[in-house]
Amino acid sequence: MTAALYTGRAMLRTAVLERGFPGGELLNTEYLDDVIGFPKILGYELAEKFAAHAKQFGAEFFETTGVTSVTKMDDGYFHTETDKAEIFRSPAVIVTAGGTPIKLGVPGELEYAGKGVSYCAICDAAFFKQQIVAVVGGGDAACEEADFLTRYATKVYLIHRRHEFRASTILQKHIFDNPKIEVIWDTIVERVDGDPQEGMKGLRLHNLVTNERKFLAANGLFIFIGFRPNTGVIAGHFDHDVMGYVLTDAAMMSSIPGLFIAGDLRAQLTRQVTTASGDATTAAIAADKYISRFKEMEREGSNEAVREALEASHISGGGYT
Ligand SMILES: Cc1cc2nc3c(=O)[nH]c(=O)nc-3n(C[C@H](O)[C@H](O)[C@H](O)COP(=O)(O)OP(=O)(O)OC[C@H]3O[C@@H](n4cnc5c(N)ncnc54)[C@H](O)[C@@H]3O)c2cc1C
Repeated sequence: MTAALYTGRAMLRTAVLERGFPGGELLNTEYLDDVIGFPKILGYELAEKFAAHAKQFGAEFFETTGVTSVTKMDDGYFHTETDKAEIFRSPAVIVTAGGTPIKLGVPGELEYAGKGVSYCAICDAAFFKQQIVAVVGGGDAACEEADFLTRYATKVYLIHRRHEFRASTILQKHIFDNPKIEVIWDTIVERVDGDPQEGMKGLRLHNLVTNERKFLAANGLFIFIGFRPNTGVIAGHFDHDVMGYVLTDAAMMSSIPGLFIAGDLRAQLTRQVTTASGDATTAAIAADKYISRFKEMEREGSNEAVREALEASHISGGGYT
């Protein structure tokens, strides 16, 4: 929506193709308290404000339109196809399809999402001040976030289905040195328990080695068992990191010239509302400049020239600041 705001302000005809209600992960977030200017705001309220603001600058929202593919054609234009068989033709596309946290798939997980169950410690840790929380996972993210959660929680249980972590040695050391963290090995979560009005109350655990089952009282559950970038719509080869996130240059352009990426889909250190918004600002301004040059060259002559020149500008990184 930030990208649409900026391309709208640049007087570019902007189509926002969204398969659900606009808002993405904001709609799965109860309160946010870390978006500058909004000390405490409901996720859906912020989403509505973003959408209204983007529309104010002329962005056209095509809600409930799932994108099936974004393909660069031989003439340099993109064809963005939807599940309603519509094709949107444009010289540039900004993809902000985000990612999907991998779910545990146990009863109660979805029921208590936002009412105790979370997939983002940086976002939600502050809501668990002086409370007891559990973390599931055994990789870098789980260990890093368990350590971070001890800044707020009185006690953090780190539940792992195996008897050793995959996390780096230094992160494991932080876990073992932290007196607030207790590791529960060889154990899986079987269900999340609670009260629909009051929120989560605890977890049913199953020790895979001893076969023991027990209830663990906890106010929160943070799940870090992986995150899948939603890159499925991008047709053709694009550069990505080992986790599948799309690599871009400083102008947010992918290895496919004219295809810009912003937010959680992009390979980067942090995935927050403000960083997604920042990426989108850059992507939109860069896309505007890209389209101006594309049109200029198209007016001047051959499509081949358009492609070559724009591809060269991508490689040199020039022309976008
Ligand atoms: C539980 C949770 C709590 C969080 N809390 C905070 C917080 O407190 N503060 C904070 O700063 N950040 C928070 N975050 C992170 C923040 O929500 C994300 O960083 C941010 O939403 C990323 O925005 P995005 O636009 O890149 O992706 P998303 O928000 O994931 O949006 C992607 C959008 O693309 C759409 N889409 C995907 N594929 C298609 C398709 N094929 N066709 C059409 N549409 C498609 C989706 O429907 C979705 O609307 C939280 C994340 C989670 C999961």
